[in-house]
Amino acid sequence: MSKPNVLVIAGHDPSGGAGIHADIETIHALEGYAATLITGLTVQNSQNVFGFEMVDTQLLRRQSDALLADMDFDAIKIGMTGSPAVVSLIAEVLDQLPGVPVVLDPVLAAEAGGSLSEDGDTLVAALIRDLLARSSLITPNLEETLTLSGQASLHEAGSELVRQGTPAALITGSQDDTADVRNHLFTANAHRSWSWPRLEGSFHGSGCTLASAIAVGLAEGRTLEKALEMAQRFVQTSLEHAWPAGQGQLIPDRHVR
Ligand code: PLP
Repeated sequence: MSKPNVLVIAGHDPSGGAGIHADIETIHALEGYAATLITGLTVQNSQNVFGFEMVDTQLLRRQSDALLADMDFDAIKIGMTGSPAVVSLIAEVLDQLPGVPVVLDPVLAAEAGGSLSEDGDTLVAALIRDLLARSSLITPNLEETLTLSGQASLHEAGSELVRQGTPAALITGSQDDTADVRNHLFTANAHRSWSWPRLEGSFHGSGCTLASAIAVGLAEGRTLEKALEMAQRFVQTSLEHAWPAGQGQLIPDRHVR
């Protein structure tokens, strides 16, 4: 029996709500398999990020060499990259896996605030230079979109990301103050959007859940639009069943179908 095999490259959130926990839970709930390269270890709970340390790139390289010598992958999901050195290493890994769909969630900060990047400007430049054009899809929120593109409005920024080299950008609206959550897809020749009822509360790990679910959809061979529809529905259901594991943001329940 074979399963969609997803290589996840992301950070660890000890609260279990976001990062690698969210990725593995999502991929397993959607009946895929997850192999993981953990880029950084964060210090956080459901309320706040208090810091993080990056994993040594030599160790990451040995881990990726071991995985790539052993497994084939159907998709790659990238979350917290954290530092320019890790971005360079990820670019090398992607070059060893040509043709495999790549979903990049260009995480710069946690949803509740709290930086997840070592050197903001340099990391942004490295993401643009090394990862945008190597990704099949990026899934920034509006703030990340404006930072990456240097533009001030959603539509300008979406078009600029495509000009910068990404084939597709799904700009997520969970952090906006609109009545519905509106997610916008920009590609070289299309723009479309989806609206979802905004649920009460604030959620930890919704972006990680979305990007991992899309990666499973692409690993299964779905078209981009079909993968995006499936993944957004999966996130909405997970958020509808979110629960207060701690005293801060709610944690999506990724096991309810
Ligand atoms: N990756 C890690 C390791 C994190 O700790 C977080 C947030 O805390 C994120 C990614 C982004 O989380 P979200 O999906 O809430 O944007």
